[in-house]
Amino acid sequence: MPEIRFDVLSAGFAIIAQERSKRPSDYRSAQDGAGELPERDPKCPFCPGNERETPPEVWANRTEGNADSPGWTVRVVPNKFPALISRPHGMAEDDAWRVPPFPDSPEGALYWQAPGVGFHEVVVESPAHNGSLGSYSTGHMKKVLEAIKERCAAMYDSSDISYVQVFKNSGKTAGASLTHPHFQIIALPVMPPAILLEGQRLKDYESKTRRCLMCDLLEREAEKDVRVILRNDRFLVLSPFASRRAYETLIVPAEHVSGFTEMNDALMDDLAATIRQLFGAYESMFSALPYNMVFHGLPSSVKTKRGWPYHAHIHVYPRLNTEAGLELGSGTYINPTSPELATREFAGAMGSWEAT
Ligand SMILES: [Zn+2]
Ligand SMILES: [Zn+2]
Ligand SMILES: [Zn+2]
Repeated sequence: MPEIRFDVLSAGFAIIAQERSKRPSDYRSAQDGAGELPERDPKCPFCPGNERETPPEVWANRTEGNADSPGWTVRVVPNKFPALISRPHGMAEDDAWRVPPFPDSPEGALYWQAPGVGFHEVVVESPAHNGSLGSYSTGHMKKVLEAIKERCAAMYDSSDISYVQVFKNSGKTAGASLTHPHFQIIALPVMPPAILLEGQRLKDYESKTRRCLMCDLLEREAEKDVRVILRNDRFLVLSPFASRRAYETLIVPAEHVSGFTEMNDALMDDLAATIRQLFGAYESMFSALPYNMVFHGLPSSVKTKRGWPYHAHIHVYPRLNTEAGLELGSGTYINPTSPELATREFAGAMGSWEAT
């Protein structure tokens, strides 16, 4: 019998279609047929040697060479076709760039609009065109995370910015237009609905219980131990109880930390190792998995202003199922792989990966 489950963070629903029990091999047609990729593609703007095809770099980890030349291991550049543009350096906040507060009166709310002020950058993860999160060393993965953390902190320094979204699209189905592995960072002048909703749910829970929803959830999931994919000193990876997408995962620091810009060195080390191990398993289960990865967190300055007890986390959303009318219309997703089955499949993949 199918089950309808409630997702405590997003307040959405998942219909877990238990009887279908789809395993990774059942999703073969949904995997992007990328085939074997070369280590370098002469036509790719993110490959070493083609640095001039991107805007000048704003951050890089280099072993040699000057800015905008080969010799980097991680490189951050502004997006060539940015979704939002930043206020020119030194320009005062005049009307043309000012983002008005979101109106609380009904009349004002009907047609609220603002200039598209913000930042849009690309973190090129590796010089290797065929790189992937499961293939990097932990040390390299940490450099990628450091690039993300430093750029986020710089963006939050701007008074124009309310929220910084870090995400990754991998595979055409997941919206990636370039194959070369990269993250994107978009800094928004508004607080987006997904964060408003999660923040409000954490706050509601806290005002009733005096505890953090995510901390409680981690404790409960660790006790039950049927949806814990990976656990180390500082992180847990879960198959969320109401996973709306097959093989969805949630990466959460075990200790309460509100955002990625707040993470210390030890947390960054363990996050790098956790991502690497999780994606090692994903990559052994799926040959070319289309997925989106989104970071959710708030720096304590923003958190305090709103009074939210935010707890940082990362969602990984594989794109193995088509989102259609039911999903768009009702926020309710049909998931043909129960999170408990997904956890068992991961356990198998994790073992074989560790053994090699
Ligand atoms: Zn490339
Ligand atoms: Zn917490
Ligand atoms: Zn979230």
